[in-house]
Amino acid sequence: MTQTSITRSWVASANGHADFPLQNLPLGVFSVKGSAPRSGVAIGEHIFDLEAALDAGLFDGAAKTAVEATRGGQLNAFFELGRDARVALRERLLELFTEGSTLHGKIEAQGSKLLPLAANCDMHLPAKINDYTDFYVGIEHAQNVGKLFRPDNPLLPNYKYVPIGYHGRASTIRPSGTDVRRPKGQTLPAGQTEPTFGPCARLDFELELGIWIGQGNEMGDAIAIGDAADHIAGFCLLNDWSARDIQAWEYQPLGPFLSKSFITSISPWVVTAEALEPFRRAQPTRPEGDPQPLPYLFDKRDQAAGAFDIELEVLLLTEAMREQNLPAHRLTLSNTRHMYWTVAQLVAHHSVNGCQLQAGDLFGSGTLSGPESGQFGSLLEITEGGKKPIELASGEVRKFLEDGDEIILRARCSREGVASIGFGECRGKVLPAR
Ligand code: CA
Repeated sequence: MTQTSITRSWVASANGHADFPLQNLPLGVFSVKGSAPRSGVAIGEHIFDLEAALDAGLFDGAAKTAVEATRGGQLNAFFELGRDARVALRERLLELFTEGSTLHGKIEAQGSKLLPLAANCDMHLPAKINDYTDFYVGIEHAQNVGKLFRPDNPLLPNYKYVPIGYHGRASTIRPSGTDVRRPKGQTLPAGQTEPTFGPCARLDFELELGIWIGQGNEMGDAIAIGDAADHIAGFCLLNDWSARDIQAWEYQPLGPFLSKSFITSISPWVVTAEALEPFRRAQPTRPEGDPQPLPYLFDKRDQAAGAFDIELEVLLLTEAMREQNLPAHRLTLSNTRHMYWTVAQLVAHHSVNGCQLQAGDLFGSGTLSGPESGQFGSLLEITEGGKKPIELASGEVRKFLEDGDEIILRARCSREGVASIGFGECRGKVLPAR
């Protein structure tokens, strides 16, 4: 099929935009220099100011109710409204921005008031995050890391029955662009029996999919697997920065703690389930011999279309590379199809004991590595725990991240005959320990 079958927008920069064509319309919270944070929608190089558009009378009915819930610089109330509100807003946005829209003139006449350039705006967290949970559904990552930590026992026996997760730290989640201060902590030097205290020497990234919870559940009620997808508001990229030396010393018996909680970075745009609809896939069939999911985790429709085909990329840019004007070095090209559990299974599992989920809660998928070299979602895997350093065009080598290094996550969905969409970037630069 040719590009001409793809609906165009009168916002010229949206057509063919790598991340934000007309077909994406992700929501976020932004501010123009000096103004209070407000909700908006990314389109091409611009942000459509939803609150200004509401005041200009561009919404009515269900779309108006949806936009009213985005007021105040947090999308929690909008997430809580669920799918119908998202769809109503999306349909109205498509009407407003499709080429030939009768409202083209009215919107454009207000210029940067309604459609500021994204480059002139700052992005914020899209919602107040009450709780953050990090899962571990990237089975290739679980196997690769398991081998490094427990060569004799890489995948623990619960892995194929339980979507493994732990409660993360919500207070230190930050939007893309926030610097990453190298953490300090206890580590056990090789060959020693007592720990030392100091800056992390094995700072790493983790490539993850972020999952925004929409409508929650009452405490005591479980979300059925068949309903679980309707409780997801959207998706983002997530970098679960990890201090490997601190992690190795602290992780047993209760899992990671200070090795993860110093910062988690996310891409600021919420890509909706509706935008991702063309990129849904069947969950890959489990290998022969693997157990079937228990009934509370199994739904035919979810198995048939509950996975996503999202290409994930990690880039590294060092201080020396910036000085030499070298392009960022691609570390990883992976895909969300390496998830052993679907996002609906994560929601069903998280709530099955009666745990309350709330609008604006965030899940991390776990590191999404592929099986091959070039597909690994962390330096721990890429360098085999520091044994195989990476060589960069600047002449530098890396085992783990150095001060000044910047990690950039990107994501892209492509399929013949439909517009490609992306997630925008999730960036973070490492600063020296203080
Ligand atoms: Ca993680």
